[in-house]
Amino acid sequence: MTMGFDDAARALVEIGRRFDARGWAPATSGNYSVRLDDGSFAVTRSGRHKGRLQPEDILRVGADGIVIGTGRSSAETALHLSLYGLFPGAHAVLHGHSARTVGFSRAVTASEWRFTGHEMLKAFPGIGTHDAEVRLPIVDNSQDMSVIDDAVAPSLGAADVAPAYLIRGHGLYAWGADLDEAERVMEATEWLIECELAEAAFRKGLA
Ligand SMILES: [Zn+2]
Repeated sequence: MTMGFDDAARALVEIGRRFDARGWAPATSGNYSVRLDDGSFAVTRSGRHKGRLQPEDILRVGADGIVIGTGRSSAETALHLSLYGLFPGAHAVLHGHSARTVGFSRAVTASEWRFTGHEMLKAFPGIGTHDAEVRLPIVDNSQDMSVIDDAVAPSLGAADVAPAYLIRGHGLYAWGADLDEAERVMEATEWLIECELAEAAFRKGLA
């Protein structure tokens, strides 16, 4: 399940191209990481446009959050490392700033959103039927990563909670056992939010 640094760097460059094409990484936003086979992490460099990443824009970071080599890793590296600490089976963490998810997070005042009855729920690990309810935690934003981490960590890990969370007015985190799974969770969560918004708009139009 684990990757070496060079393979992880190539894969994260490709993730950046795909996320940029979808509007999930505007204006250098977002960050991505992979847990490597030696226990360190590949993390995107701070401030780089995700659609134009090069392999040298991927840094190696120790479990202590310190870059091994030179360069400054993403400002949100601590949130990635916290997720790897909480979930030993997680090997990839992805984060995007799509207008859809950020607008949704600002409109919802509750601390979570419940997706119910969607076929797409089966994209989440461990969910085998549409006849389920999956909770997506929503936490307030902060420039202090430890404040976000303290707020969201207690909400994560239950069987009915998605391997994902939203930071209000900021963006979406998703993770998985490997990069493919993390990307699938990201896509599914983006799709579910798009679908809920379309349904709400349609119902409002009918009212
Ligand atoms: Zn962010």
